Amino acid sequence: MKNFDQLKDLLNSPKKIVIVTHPRPDGDAMGSSLGLYNYLRSKGHFPTVILPTEYPDYFRWMRGTRKAILYNRRKEDADKVINEAEIVFCLDFNSLKRVDPIHNVLEPLKVPFVLIDHHLEPDEFEYALHNTKASSTCELVADFIEMLEGEFPNLNKDIVHCLYTGLVTDTGNFQNGATSVRAFELAAKFMKLGLDLEYIRENVFNTYKEKRIRFLGNALLNRMVVVPHLSIAYISVTKEDVRTYDLNAGDTEGLVNYPLTIKGIKVAVLLKEHGDIVKLSFRSKADISVNDFARKYFQGGGHMNAAGGKSTKSLSATIIEITNLWKKEYA
Ligand code: 5GP
Ligand code: MN
Repeated sequence: MKNFDQLKDLLNSPKKIVIVTHPRPDGDAMGSSLGLYNYLRSKGHFPTVILPTEYPDYFRWMRGTRKAILYNRRKEDADKVINEAEIVFCLDFNSLKRVDPIHNVLEPLKVPFVLIDHHLEPDEFEYALHNTKASSTCELVADFIEMLEGEFPNLNKDIVHCLYTGLVTDTGNFQNGATSVRAFELAAKFMKLGLDLEYIRENVFNTYKEKRIRFLGNALLNRMVVVPHLSIAYISVTKEDVRTYDLNAGDTEGLVNYPLTIKGIKVAVLLKEHGDIVKLSFRSKADISVNDFARKYFQGGGHMNAAGGKSTKSLSATIIEITNLWKKEYA
């Protein structure tokens, strides 16, 4: 990190710090933000986590979530805290545009901004710990803390559990391409610090409501379209599904991975009606870059094998558009 010593000096005395992460925060966004929050608190700082939109219920156990400010609900409170911040940390996203509308308040600020992130093609930040090879932003937060401390720190369990959550979710349970040597090393270090695997399993993974399982069944049975000759498959989630199955933040998490378990399918797309747009989630195998595709055509981005974006067309029109673009680009 360029100018790291300067940042370290700044953090030597208590500071008012804002931590921002991306909308619809996932395990890595929540884990890295709350992990850093709990670490900074343990050092005497005054951090506040600002979440652009609701977080899934299954992350409520993370210490500090109740103190986090939801921007879509408490804009004025959030703006006040942001304007009083002495340092801003941006975690698990890499362009202020991604946190619209918060970027309107962030951009004019004259305080140091610190980016900690692993997504492709980051914007310039004054301080940046950025590595696209890192398994997760949680891994980089652990690296950052280690850099500050000069050795691997004796983290408390709140921090361990937050950081492990990002590690296990972003690596797809230590199975996908993001799974690095460092990810396993960190998992081992966390185990030594008292990581309770059962606690994580029961709180993060085994928390489905009955309706969510029924929704999953319906999505796979009635909402999946497979195009074998293009090696692509789609799953749609309609507004009606959201009502019928009482879907909340995070309830579609993981669904996009199912089509990739079909032999021969290399790209999976989840389309979810959301207000007047369709939110897109892309997943791919090997060297097929859904980041490029999402950036080029759907105002999005992410990683090579996991990216997101949005469409202003209907579900069916978006499926046709993606199919045609995909044929043009890759077939
Ligand atoms: P997901 O499909 O799980 O929502 O997101 C997959 C990856 O793409 C995540 O790393 C996420 O941060 C990123 N991502 C999702 N949606 C967007 C988007 O609209 N813009 C950008 N730049 N990245 C996104
Ligand atoms: Mn991440």
